Amino acid sequence: MKVFHLSVECYPVAKVGGLADVVGALPKYQTKLGWEAAVVMPWYNRPFVRDHDFSLVHEGTFYQGSELLNYGVYKENKNTLGFELYLIKIPGKLDREEVYCYPDEGEQFIAFQHAVLNWFKEKNIIPTIVHCHDHHVGLVPFLMKYSNDYNFLADVKTVATVHNGQYQGWTHWSKAILLPAFDSWKWGLLDWDGLINPLAALIKCCDAYTTVSEGYLEELYVEANGLQHLFYDERHKSVGIVNGIDWEIWDPEIDYTLMENYGTEQAFAGKLKNKQALAQQYKINPKLPLLVFIGRFATEKGADLLPDIILNLTAEYRDRLSIFILGAGDPVIQSRVKSLVDDGIENFDVFFGYDENLAHWLYASADFLLMPSRVEPCGLNQLYAMKYGTLPIVHRVGGLKDTVIDLENDGYGVGFDGLAITEITEAIARAINFYESKKQFEGNQRKMMCLDFSWDKSAAKYISLYNQII
Ligand code: ADP
Repeated sequence: MKVFHLSVECYPVAKVGGLADVVGALPKYQTKLGWEAAVVMPWYNRPFVRDHDFSLVHEGTFYQGSELLNYGVYKENKNTLGFELYLIKIPGKLDREEVYCYPDEGEQFIAFQHAVLNWFKEKNIIPTIVHCHDHHVGLVPFLMKYSNDYNFLADVKTVATVHNGQYQGWTHWSKAILLPAFDSWKWGLLDWDGLINPLAALIKCCDAYTTVSEGYLEELYVEANGLQHLFYDERHKSVGIVNGIDWEIWDPEIDYTLMENYGTEQAFAGKLKNKQALAQQYKINPKLPLLVFIGRFATEKGADLLPDIILNLTAEYRDRLSIFILGAGDPVIQSRVKSLVDDGIENFDVFFGYDENLAHWLYASADFLLMPSRVEPCGLNQLYAMKYGTLPIVHRVGGLKDTVIDLENDGYGVGFDGLAITEITEAIARAINFYESKKQFEGNQRKMMCLDFSWDKSAAKYISLYNQII
């Protein structure tokens, strides 16, 4: 039994967000459950690729429109990640540093998908399952069934995982010429509202689709950036499986990036040491509880609300809270946050950019993690936070609703239902008050750290789904 995961992100090779964390962990846990698992992703000019040994296992060519593309398939020699890792390199297309945002990214994704199928064909690779993650590889199940060259894979079962249904890979029909030749009677499977929609094609053509939490699945039936009817119509083959966290990487007892490691019994003291070290580099007060936000500056994440939340908080809770923001993205949001830093607000600091180690350090140093997301398919931040004994304060949507039970309901976190600044401030005030009842707060830290959001359970659910469809 062998599953090939197709994805454009995989931690630690190339990470932009949660997709990478999932694809870097799930195959490892599937391997432990007795399946062979492999990840196939584009080649990136990044440290992991430069620092590890790869062997060229296949070379081939194909036409993308009138352009003849050469590709190479590189296998990582030592299975360092706990599974087979293959990178597809195409000079001029898949040999760059960034994962997204190139003007020709649609063509890059088509080239990646075509190269994978061409490699399967030339090497006669017949997987048990092809598992496609998000729209970037959304054309694969269609091409496996209806393209002239690759329909030898028509009987291979395909699973789609929707990590984020907002992004769908819309492509103008004039680009259809770039796809491998396919049965033109089937064009409707690629189409949604007059465009090629790879996410829609994925959902229509896969054997089963999953979302990264049950709550998000329910939400997609109602609102999915135009695809809600499709998700609803195809619900017979859907299942919500919440993400896990990789305890080999995310565990405060062994996390090598921390200033101080700690287990459940020394959580408060261990976290304090991390916070004190943080306060030596950044403008926060280690004597106060620390609230952090970690994430993309996007409206989806509610990052646009941060400046107003901070202004509101600093007026009312100036002496009772430090705040730290780690993020990058939308320049308008970034400049509004920067102007708060420039105003010299006390006990408040920011790091603009992407910094994996700093993220770990913040989960360990913080007392509260704020997630005012408008959309949250699963959300990994709150899971990492809880594992590090940090109280999540979350908007009750998607996976946040599924994974964070409120203190008021005998749970361990703080939730809010609306995104009015007053409502969010009230939730934060509730957390500050709770922090001040020290004994209960520390008891809750231990409770959160013992919650089981491991991959073992979720990986087993994926395997049972595979078994159902084969
Ligand atoms: P997304 O929608 O961005 O994928 P997730 O919650 O699923 O959201 O995953 C976010 C992941 O990206 C987490 O591992 C989080 O720690 C990490 N992350 C987000 N922004 C940053 C940043 N600026 N620096 C470091 N890590 C970040």
